[in-house]
Amino acid sequence: MPLIHLFRRCNQRCVFCSYPADAGADGPAGLGDWLREIAAMPPGPVQISGGEPLLAGTSRLCLLLAAVKKLGRKAELQTNAIAAAGLPAGELTRLCKALKAAGGYFNVNFPAASPAADFRITKTRGAFGRRLAGVRRLVKAGAAVRLTHVISSLNYKSLPAFAAFAAKELKGIAWLQFSYIKGVGRAEARYLPKYGEVKPYLLEALRLCRAAGLRCDVDHIPPCYLGSFYRLNVDIVKMKEGRPGPHLQEKARVAACRGCRFLALCPGPRKDYMAAHKKL
Ligand code: SF4
Repeated sequence: MPLIHLFRRCNQRCVFCSYPADAGADGPAGLGDWLREIAAMPPGPVQISGGEPLLAGTSRLCLLLAAVKKLGRKAELQTNAIAAAGLPAGELTRLCKALKAAGGYFNVNFPAASPAADFRITKTRGAFGRRLAGVRRLVKAGAAVRLTHVISSLNYKSLPAFAAFAAKELKGIAWLQFSYIKGVGRAEARYLPKYGEVKPYLLEALRLCRAAGLRCDVDHIPPCYLGSFYRLNVDIVKMKEGRPGPHLQEKARVAACRGCRFLALCPGPRKDYMAAHKKL
């Protein structure tokens, strides 16, 4: 999915931030630059990212979303949802409507089920409570909300607890994605747990989601580590349809993939995972 980074500015300091480390300081980019960038992208839905896109302000975001719609494209608005907690009601409604009109959804980075764990990951005081309030407001306003739970060495043992938390405290979300940390940007290798360490906790979390009727999927952990839940791996559909995209650039098959029953459905493990751990 084509991606635009509006700017680097953010109200969190997540240890897993994948914003390109070599991107330099924010330039003078504004609405006109963003629209030109989107118009020049290959076809398909647009991921609007940052930094934190909500810091662009509601008016500019609504104009951006209207332009995306006019181009006949859909939008995914990535956010940590903190700013959504404090938006005046009218602005929140306007933003949700503009996103809905663009056939889109909020993709909320939600990394923990408690304030202390949230702080260890986002390095931002008070973020957990504001994020929780922000997501609830978005859901209440009728927006489609996907949660992305980035799996790192700081939270993988709490995956079942997070699944239970999401099912109980965040009713109304459209779905939950468990997404293994990318070893790029600010993410240091020590935050990348081994797939084998993550597996039992992730499978339990997926069982809990299934029992609670909470839709979920998994990104950046290959099917060979997902047991009977392998169909939840998001690359499988892309591979079946022969879609181009970052999954083919960021991942590559390795010697251990030889003879694998998922070979045609899996692009292999992430290259940065192999750089950190040397073996699958
Ligand atoms: S192709 Fe490789 S990474 Fe993918 S499921 Fe098979 S063994 Fe695992």
